[in-house]
Amino acid sequence: MYKSLLLSINALCASIVWAQSPASSSAQSKPSVRWEELTAADFRDAIARAQGACLLPFGILEKHGLHLPLGNDLLNVRYVALNAAQQEYAIVFPEYYFGQIFEAKHQPGTVAYSARLQLELLQETTDEMARNGCKKIIIVNGHGGNNSLLPYFAQAQLDTPHDYVVYVMGIMRSAQGEPKHKTNPATDMHAGESETSLSMIARPDLVHLDRAPQESGADQARLKLPEGLYTGIWWYARFPNHYAGEGAAATRELGEFEARTWINGLVQAIRAVKADQESLRLQNEFYERGKHPLETPQ
Ligand SMILES: [Zn+2]
Repeated sequence: MYKSLLLSINALCASIVWAQSPASSSAQSKPSVRWEELTAADFRDAIARAQGACLLPFGILEKHGLHLPLGNDLLNVRYVALNAAQQEYAIVFPEYYFGQIFEAKHQPGTVAYSARLQLELLQETTDEMARNGCKKIIIVNGHGGNNSLLPYFAQAQLDTPHDYVVYVMGIMRSAQGEPKHKTNPATDMHAGESETSLSMIARPDLVHLDRAPQESGADQARLKLPEGLYTGIWWYARFPNHYAGEGAAATRELGEFEARTWINGLVQAIRAVKADQESLRLQNEFYERGKHPLETPQ
């Protein structure tokens, strides 16, 4: 057990080095997974090798307690995406920060694009990816504030015909067999024990664990509304410091488990997407039927 844990930690460390090295001696045998590092000719080969599967890791610029960097979500999700793509080849789109974060506009360093621009930029980005051969795009979400935006974006792909499929994969940090958490998972939502643990693996140099207790990440529960009744100010009402949980409780042990869980989950997703021939076929059938609904058998 101990040995196999050590082995997997070693494997993880090796993949960390691989993920962070810009180009390596093995570049000739295996193309980089990073879109921006490929030459034009190598890109064409890489699309074939990836069978059209591309990843769009999606983060944000927002406060993460007093102890984590503004770009934390993108740093973490790119760490996961780059490692997964090296295990199951896929091309990884460059840094993408342009999501939903209105609820943190009162905090320094937040960049909150308009709703219109978020959707237009994402549509043009996936359109351009597909024009270059990415016919199967997995948006890998690293930011909880995008949890409504991304399924909506995927649904909106049914409005007009596209010759590619958008898949969305969320944060996948927990699984069976994970180390026991020290804090309550119900309020461990943002820059708390879980997220901070992963940051300690992805970018330990940017984690200031000593600063975490200097601000409260407690739920202030300032709204009294019945369950099932939604309003946009809910997050600010509960966590006005834009911090939810206790980052100081983070450990590398939990972070290693979370990183491995998410990377493995994404590897499985890339494999499933490569094998999926039905989504595009059904989309095309749907677009065609949508042009003349009266002919759809009743
Ligand atoms: Zn985050």
